[in-house]
Amino acid sequence: MNQDKSYAIGIDLGGTKIIAAIVDQHGNILRQANAATQTEEAAAAVIGRIGDLVQNVLDDSGINISRIRGIGIATAGIIDTQRQMVIFASNLNWSDVPIGGILQERFGVAVQLINDANAAAVAEWAFGSARGTKDLIYVTVSTGVGAGIISGGRLITGVGDSAGEFGHISLDPEGPLCVCGNRGCLENYTSGLALASRAREQLLHGVTSSLLVDNGNDLSRITAREVGEAADRGDILSMTLMKEAGYYLGVGLTNLIHLFNPQVIVIGGGVMKNGHLLLAEAKNVIRERSISRMANQASIQLTTIGAEAGVLGAAGMYYPSEREMVEV
Ligand SMILES: [Zn+2]
Repeated sequence: MNQDKSYAIGIDLGGTKIIAAIVDQHGNILRQANAATQTEEAAAAVIGRIGDLVQNVLDDSGINISRIRGIGIATAGIIDTQRQMVIFASNLNWSDVPIGGILQERFGVAVQLINDANAAAVAEWAFGSARGTKDLIYVTVSTGVGAGIISGGRLITGVGDSAGEFGHISLDPEGPLCVCGNRGCLENYTSGLALASRAREQLLHGVTSSLLVDNGNDLSRITAREVGEAADRGDILSMTLMKEAGYYLGVGLTNLIHLFNPQVIVIGGGVMKNGHLLLAEAKNVIRERSISRMANQASIQLTTIGAEAGVLGAAGMYYPSEREMVEV
């Protein structure tokens, strides 16, 4: 690879906001620009705005496009990384959008799509505390639950770019029916949505908690964030719910450890912002249930990257050689 090509551009394409960043080989963000996604507009207009953001960060940084290895785009939904298309993304209202080809034509550099959880895994792998490991799993616990799996130094995408649906492994074959068609999925027990709905359920049953008073007796205002914050303040119901979520996460992580024998599991996502009880309980379960040799080999840590995971992971796809250098 041409050594003059020292930079990559990462795009985090979300339902409300687009972030574009120019990133060097060490994961430093040189310039960053944001815009509202405005999904009510046609996909072509949104892609035009993404292109303008790319041009902005190039102009602001004074870096010529000839020094860019490629543009990476992290997005939710179903993507096709062969054709660089978004097949379906409900948060964008997109179906069959050839975003990669359009941007490639505008800038004349490679464009590569990656899904959100995989981008976060690549960010940890390329630039995070797990840099240099060949066996890393990133788990996100937010509205839903997902994972990006790197095994033997390779991102596991599956034949249809859909691998890593950690939220939809079944923990109870007779459990509640999940949106995916399976029963008793992890996501039904450990996720932002599950935490909020279990809190409301308990409050409806008359369980005492500061949650109700703190939210003006309005159940609809209770989200996972309220539960997490109340748990941090010592609310017994919220603490119990966080531990319960941690129990199921621990059972799920035990399955992952047994399947992949990872060296590092990095956990992120909105729920983990107040997730210390949840994480502690998950670690207890892993200690109790995992094959001890494999549990001992797996370091479980919270992400240190945070909101920049999308752009860093999208750009990080273009820095494989640095990873190999670290691995040697
Ligand atoms: Zn499911």
